[in-house]
Amino acid sequence: MSTYEQALSSEVFEYISKASKQLGLESYVIGGYVRDFLLQRDSGAKDIDIVAVGSGIELAKKVAKLLPTSPKVQIFKTYGTAMLRFKDLEIEFVGARKESYKENSRNPKVEQGTLQDDQNRRDFTINAMALSLNEADYGKLLDPFNGVEDLKSGIIRTPLDPTITYSDDPLRMMRAIRFATQLNFTIEQRSLDAIIKNTTRIDIITQERIVVELDKILMSGTPSIGFRLLEQTKLLERFLPELTALKGVEEEKGQTHKDNFYHTLQVVDNIAQKTDNLWLLWTALLHDIGKVPTKKFDKKNGWTFHGHEFVGSKMVYKLFRRLKMPLNEKMKYVQKLVLLSSRPVVLAEEVTDSAIRRLIFDAGDIIDDLMTHCEADITTKNPKKRKQYLNNFKLVRQKIKEVEERDSVRNFQPPVTGEIIMKIFGLKPCREVGQLKDAIKEAILEGEIKNDYEEAYQFMLVKAKKLGLEKIE
Ligand code: ATP
Ligand code: MG
Repeated sequence: MSTYEQALSSEVFEYISKASKQLGLESYVIGGYVRDFLLQRDSGAKDIDIVAVGSGIELAKKVAKLLPTSPKVQIFKTYGTAMLRFKDLEIEFVGARKESYKENSRNPKVEQGTLQDDQNRRDFTINAMALSLNEADYGKLLDPFNGVEDLKSGIIRTPLDPTITYSDDPLRMMRAIRFATQLNFTIEQRSLDAIIKNTTRIDIITQERIVVELDKILMSGTPSIGFRLLEQTKLLERFLPELTALKGVEEEKGQTHKDNFYHTLQVVDNIAQKTDNLWLLWTALLHDIGKVPTKKFDKKNGWTFHGHEFVGSKMVYKLFRRLKMPLNEKMKYVQKLVLLSSRPVVLAEEVTDSAIRRLIFDAGDIIDDLMTHCEADITTKNPKKRKQYLNNFKLVRQKIKEVEERDSVRNFQPPVTGEIIMKIFGLKPCREVGQLKDAIKEAILEGEIKNDYEEAYQFMLVKAKKLGLEKIE
């Protein structure tokens, strides 16, 4: 068995081979599956791309018929592709094609072509390798652009002239940077130049597709690789100008502030080391964007960014909307984390129980993620300071745990409800009810009373008297 045959160990390939033979056409496994097999990389993705020299849809139908599970075939007529599932695999079929492009669209004119035509239209040499599923040379690697070499030397290179490749479909610029980040590969200089030349063409790509690539970059272990490339090629400023605006250091009266762009990238890398929570990664990316509109210099305090958390959290909404990202609880989660991102820092300097209770009350279930973010936000190069900050946060975490165990203010529910208050004083919903509820909450957060019914009840009676309310009985 050749090495490449190992790649074809799933029985599904035999069925595809058999179906191809019956239809009298050639078929190949191509793209990411071949690449990841050669890299011995478990990308977690279970998608396999099959190219047929002929109709991909017909082949898919035939394969479905032969498979013992008789899976349903999903057909995408406009693209001439078909998909079926077998076990945990998602197998996509496409007819080999030849493409030509128009200036203002990434939708090409498509004609039927040979395997070689199809490989020519692939984005990168490492994504253009194919394995034969044909009887005559089953398992043979067809690698016309020497993708194997590029895999070995870690290079992203286009099969054809890069200027044409990127101009034809500008999404490939994002993909090049995404693969460079995921695989820790270098983009060939000619390609990089071509991307820089074609930067503005990214504008014809939908926001959704750009975000798919950004998400993958964020989830890739060292996202800064990708964001540096996006910045260098000037792509970033076209869809995330809030981030590039963070770049640079200003000096005033001998005082400077840190470069918040590179600081942000480091925070993102720190978070990526700890978690694959996509929304915590977005939080890290956006946590300082409010620093641009709030930046000020004054003689007494030097550089300040007052209220940047609040301004930043407002910007999160606009940015998500512009990028057509979800405006649901994911966005609210990012907003809330950005809004609260400095609170634990203040606490680390002086921890009081009441401040901790307020933080738990305001953060609710995201309190742990908030602490994770804050720890990642430490980017000082001074090891002594770093250790001290980390230690402070450790104390904050500990304090949170203690206070939480004692007072349980996370997902705070008032111990004396509005209904009870209304019943005791014979009230309809009115301002006084709200005032009493608020007073109880404040007293609990301040630590004047415990979070329990009896104490809250007594406290409420005293407050009510001051408001001139009489118990009815
Ligand atoms: P992954 O699934 O890990 O993102 P992949 O290489 O499988 O990586 P897909 O988006 O699944 O990427 O695409 C499958 C194959 O289709 C690629 O390997 C490549 O050969 C080809 N391809 C995808 N998008 C493009 C594109 N925009 N231009 C040219 N070829 C592309
Ligand atoms: Mg894939």
